[in-house]
Amino acid sequence: MTPGLKPLIQISVLLALLVSPAVCQIRQSPSLDCHILEISPTNRSATITCSATHLPTGKTRLQFVDQFAGVDQLSDRVHALKISTSTNVPLPLELRGNGLVFFTANSGSATIRYEMRLARAFDPAQHALVSSIGPDAAVLMMADLLPRICSEAESCETPNPTTLKLSAPNDWQIATTERQRSGVYELADNSKAVFFLARFRERTANVGNMNLRIAVAGQWNFRDEDIFPLAEAIAREQAAMIASREQGEFLVLLTPFPQPLTGLRSSAVTLGRTVVLLLNPNNDSIQTLKHFRRHLAHEMFHFYLPNAFRIRENFDWFWEGFTRYVALMTLARLNLLTLDEYLDAINGEYEAYLFNPQRGQLSLIQASPDKFSSPASYDLVYRKGMLVAALYDLELRWQSRSKRTLADAIKALYANAEREIGNREVLGELGKLGDFSRLIRDDIEGTREIDLAERVKPYGLKIEQSPATRNRARLMAASKLNERQKALLSSLARF
Ligand SMILES: [Zn+2]
Repeated sequence: MTPGLKPLIQISVLLALLVSPAVCQIRQSPSLDCHILEISPTNRSATITCSATHLPTGKTRLQFVDQFAGVDQLSDRVHALKISTSTNVPLPLELRGNGLVFFTANSGSATIRYEMRLARAFDPAQHALVSSIGPDAAVLMMADLLPRICSEAESCETPNPTTLKLSAPNDWQIATTERQRSGVYELADNSKAVFFLARFRERTANVGNMNLRIAVAGQWNFRDEDIFPLAEAIAREQAAMIASREQGEFLVLLTPFPQPLTGLRSSAVTLGRTVVLLLNPNNDSIQTLKHFRRHLAHEMFHFYLPNAFRIRENFDWFWEGFTRYVALMTLARLNLLTLDEYLDAINGEYEAYLFNPQRGQLSLIQASPDKFSSPASYDLVYRKGMLVAALYDLELRWQSRSKRTLADAIKALYANAEREIGNREVLGELGKLGDFSRLIRDDIEGTREIDLAERVKPYGLKIEQSPATRNRARLMAASKLNERQKALLSSLARF
């Protein structure tokens, strides 16, 4: 998943500075030189010191993130916060709760020191969303480890210019997309900077102008040779699908959860150009590998959607729901999925949709902005979102006689990625490739009930529940198919 990212720079403020340089005294914004040290895999904690300079005259506001992508009370992990002058004289702090602190440093600089305790247990699905330190690896995200500082009157929306030093535990390596000069990282945007510390195996691949680095920690019940070529193949396929223009460093991490879990589970996030994927296998290595493939293909498409776009508003129904479907398309194009598996995945989303109590009340567009407010909204965005992506793709293949797919709509959006996009642009692009006014009105903007069997009948598909399907409802190809239907279904996946 990718959490709803809001543009952090206030464009209006920036414009005001640009149009009136003569009257605006541009003050240097506060900057941070931080050092993460004493990273303890046993205590699952780290000590952080930052020297802050160019502090405002008067009160300084210091803000630790407290909430991220539906995870609350993150600032509770900050312990023993001390702020002192550069000559080590403690400064009085006003602690306002939820990670908000005020202090006054008359010299314009201060030293901030605190301990981050990261042992708190989360819902397994949430583990990848926040920094963690486990026995085998640490995933350090600057967005939740470092504070933001600004003047009292501001709200610290803009990341501070930050440099970072890391003292990794003995014989742990470091992987990141951040630039390093003589052991010091210069963070372009600390809301996206991620550092992976572990004893990992790695491989690099050039995909067009993208330098992809894949780092794997932990022992798995499948081979490393099932991981490295897979990540590279997904990167190539998706770059081709979208006509990628991306360049520079990209990183994919696979690592165990920081604490023991039972059952097959994964949790992942894509921050900027880093995919963090935590996996907990079960005893079935084939099932584990299939699960991993689906999740990896989903996460890696977030390099593009939404991370390569300028986002105006939340349209998670598209960037999550449609990305879920693109993962399926990617694996099918790589011959890693049969048509049966493809159709089973679509039917799985349909069954989840039928169980969703909000399906008649909330449209995809309405459910998106507050997907974290209720499990039903969240589920609708992902599951109905993917179902509608499948219906769109099938209909587009049908109308175009298999000459076009959903990938063409996303490619067209990406071709214009320099403009800001929101629902209007996405719906405009989806509507351009054929006659989709009903699908957009009923399935995306509206709440009209979807009858899958009825919708897929023209394409030569049916839902069958019989002893032959072990009495489970399955989406499958009809026994008699005309040429156009055959062409459509064989364009989807291995028949
Ligand atoms: Zn996602």
